[in-house]
Amino acid sequence: MPELPQLDHVAYLKEALALARQGQAAGSAPVGALLVSAQGEVLARGHNRVGQAQTADHVGGASVAHAEMDVFFQVGKLEDPETLTLYSSLEPCLMCGGASALLGVGRVVWATADPWGGSGRLLRWEDHPAMQQTQVVPTPDPALEREGALLFAPEAKRAFPEEGWALWQARYPEETQGL
Ligand SMILES: [Zn+2]
Repeated sequence: MPELPQLDHVAYLKEALALARQGQAAGSAPVGALLVSAQGEVLARGHNRVGQAQTADHVGGASVAHAEMDVFFQVGKLEDPETLTLYSSLEPCLMCGGASALLGVGRVVWATADPWGGSGRLLRWEDHPAMQQTQVVPTPDPALEREGALLFAPEAKRAFPEEGWALWQARYPEETQGL
């Protein structure tokens, strides 16, 4: 495992949540992500763009236009990926977690768990050599976890099948109440 720098997870996750709100304001799902260097420099900021047109600058339109993919497409080829940290407002899905592992990103940190589609349990899958290279830091801040759950809960109810919403209700009973 490479040495990863001490970064202020809370500060970057706050920015991921702000990006999630930007995505929501643009008509997409409220998920935001950013990629941060070992020195703490933000290399790219992204948000979900599923509801937006694709442009030369941004992935969009297709249902794979998730916040993390937006970040990866913006950055292009990663330099020293093992030194980088990906922050997301929501636990990355299988595609985005898989892309992070494939690219060799050193660490993935998220504000809020996704008990339906999250890939954290697979990123920690120690039998898979690609996954071993990526460390995961799930929900390091309870207040931000709750904030992200409140933000994403309506989308979870809309987008996920019944079983997925039941998992959200079980994990976040207060944040899903009344929806
Ligand atoms: Zn995703």
